[in-house]
Amino acid sequence: MGRLFIESLPGPRIFKCSCCKVDSASPDDIVSKNFQGRFGKAYLFRSVVNICLGPTEERHLTSGLHAVSDIYCSSCLQILGWKYEKAYEESEKYKEGMYILEKYRMLKDGW
Ligand SMILES: [Zn+2]
Repeated sequence: MGRLFIESLPGPRIFKCSCCKVDSASPDDIVSKNFQGRFGKAYLFRSVVNICLGPTEERHLTSGLHAVSDIYCSSCLQILGWKYEKAYEESEKYKEGMYILEKYRMLKDGW
């Protein structure tokens, strides 16, 4: 058991966990800002860092049935959003492997 490994993202503009302020995602990896999370506005990212995944479950979202895993900050374990593991609708397939981060759970550091 060592120290928790925290990955740092490059660049002046980073989204950070609102609770413990470790890096969560880069605005360069935003695919869409037009998503709805559980707590309001949410962004779709192609990659995020410093997260752990919860168990995969099937969930009915506004865009239909998806298999998703909740994602947690790997440092403080706050829930941040979810990952799309599988989409069943052809039009939603592009989301597979992408991540939703709730805007409310992120801090914009330095911008
Ligand atoms: Zn955190």
